[in-house]
Parts: sequence; C-alpha cells; structure tokens
Amino acid sequence: MKITKIFTFDSSHMLDGHDGKCQNLHGHTYTLEITVSDGLIPNGAKSGMVMDFTDLKAIVKQAIIEPFDHAFIYDGSNPREQQIAALLEGWNMKTLRLPFRTTAEHMSIEMYGRLKKAGLNVCRIKLWETPTSCAEYEGDHP
Ligand SMILES: [Zn+2]
Repeated sequence: MKITKIFTFDSSHMLDGHDGKCQNLHGHTYTLEITVSDGLIPNGAKSGMVMDFTDLKAIVKQAIIEPFDHAFIYDGSNPREQQIAALLEGWNMKTLRLPFRTTAEHMSIEMYGRLKKAGLNVCRIKLWETPTSCAEYEGDHP
C-alpha cells in the first residue's frame, strides 16, 4: 500500500553556467510529493493506516521544509554561488549549502536520502519546480 502527501516550500537558487535564464538568481514555489510504502498497521490507534499523515508531516517538516523553505539554496562547490551565499549570510539571511548543482533532479535525490535517514519508508519523491516541470526519484540510480 502507498500513501502520498503533498507539501510546498519556497526557495531561491540559480544554476551557474546554465545556457539560459536559469543562470540568474530566481525563485520557485516548489511542490513536493512524498510517497510512503508499507503494510497496514494491524491494530491500535493507527489501525488501517500505512502511517499517520500527521506523523508523516512532522518528519517532512523537520527533514526538508525547515532547512529549504525561504532559503537561498546553493551549490557549495561553485565559487559564484558561494559568494552570493556569503553576502546573504552576512545580512543574516537564510541559506542552505548543498554538495551539488541545485537542479530538481539532484534535489529529489537529496530529499529522498534525508527522509530515509529520518526513518521514513519513502518509495518515491516527486519535486515540481513549476506547475509543468517535475523530477521524480524512486531510490534506484539513475
Ligand atoms: Zn530554477
């Protein structure tokens, strides 16, 4: 059985070196679909559930929404993105250093890993960067 919960968060980013408009600093309201797979809980207060949506929300909030929401997310290996992050940090603005170029594809792999680490039986991440563009990751490379 699978259950899915949908979240949104806002982040700014840039793709340095991109050959189009994504090289510029810009933002997205991301939509994040988290799918969890498991058997049904047989008895007790959560009987008949894969997991309580409230518990799912708490894990996703802590592992993903809190660090990413209203942050400048940047590639810590990129000198130009690092410079912008340093400027923002100097003004006490929120940033999140990541070890990769901040494409929706990389971000969905990262989020999958964070949720696994938090103990969630996540089986699919779907990260919408715009209403018509998303990346989907199901845990097996690529
Ligand atoms: Zn973008």
